[in-house]
Amino acid sequence: MKLPIYLDYAATTPVDTRVANRMARYLTFDGEFGNPASINHQYGRSAKSAVEEARGFVADLLGARPSQIIWTSGATEAINLALKGAARNFRAQGSHIVTVQTEHKAVLDVCHALEQEGFRVTYLTVLPDGLVDLGLLDAAIRPDTILVSVMQVNNETGIVQDLTAIEQLTSKHKVALHVDAAQSAGKLPIDLHVSAIDLMSVCAHKIYGPKGVGALYVRDRSTLGQQALIHGGGHEQGLRAGTLPTHQIVGMGEAFRIAADERDRDHRTITQLKHRLWSGLQKIEGTWLNGNLEKSVAGILNVGFAGVDSEDLLLELHDVAVSTGAACSSFLQEPSHVLRAMGLSDERISSTVRFSLGRCTSAEDIDYVLASIRRALHALRCGN
Ligand SMILES: *Cc1c(COP(=O)(O)O)cnc(C)c1O
Repeated sequence: MKLPIYLDYAATTPVDTRVANRMARYLTFDGEFGNPASINHQYGRSAKSAVEEARGFVADLLGARPSQIIWTSGATEAINLALKGAARNFRAQGSHIVTVQTEHKAVLDVCHALEQEGFRVTYLTVLPDGLVDLGLLDAAIRPDTILVSVMQVNNETGIVQDLTAIEQLTSKHKVALHVDAAQSAGKLPIDLHVSAIDLMSVCAHKIYGPKGVGALYVRDRSTLGQQALIHGGGHEQGLRAGTLPTHQIVGMGEAFRIAADERDRDHRTITQLKHRLWSGLQKIEGTWLNGNLEKSVAGILNVGFAGVDSEDLLLELHDVAVSTGAACSSFLQEPSHVLRAMGLSDERISSTVRFSLGRCTSAEDIDYVLASIRRALHALRCGN
């Protein structure tokens, strides 16, 4: 049986074959399997140099210095380290944090955990297209605010926040800024060298690298002080202990190196495909777009189908792999908190599908998907 067409790249991407081939060289006895911390012999030193080369690739893509990159197990861990670390480190200066209602659960749940520790958190509402209201952000920052956390690209709607304007506000108020860049690293230009961002979380598996590896960019070590989450061995400047997974790290490095080369081309083709999809969907009666086509990342399109329950639509669309929202909320079965914050009714939210396109999507895939959707909607709306 033919596999369904994969349009769920925002949940995860396949590992690029070039990345997988490189990773395979860091596992077996005839490869570089040493412990990167065992620098007193050749096996360890080879592994360490592979880890450092990968750190350089990640740093290059972000416009950072290699010493500012801390390896983690993914963006979720990087976000935990960034927010808990900065909050606890700045506790003496204040206990107020500002974030946005449309953030990923990895940020929102960490903020809820920090509230249990006595921090106070303001969760900003957004404008109807999902952009942060800069006036509200400016007004929310108080003398006891120590940290602001905003994502660059939203994983459900693809909306791209105006980081330059947000950085200006956090700089003006002298408040630390964390950016969740899990959906934007390797897709949008990022130059941390000339930015006021203090902390940035990234991962490999949204950009054709392996799952289970990510990194935290730390502009200035003093932002986190001694606030590690995982202790034991002092790896990664004392911020994240544990034997480094060489193959995962090499995979992330390779994925970021490839993204630096191919980002512009991918951006152009995927943008064209997204427009092809949207122009086809627009011709179907009762469809609407959540977010903003021009202010969103190339690969994500969030669309509503009036009068149709998206769970039913997905069942009918068995030859297309899409999702009704974020992968992590789809098992929670609650209406999207992102669309809710944008002011959508629960009824409209329940009619929404997220399409996310990537490097392996073709124009034929899009045409096939459009035909499948027309067929599925006809079946659902006409009841046969
Ligand atoms: C996927 C994702 C995360 C979590 O990343 P993991 O590496 O899977 O832990 C966090 N934030 C956003 C916006 C994401 O899309």
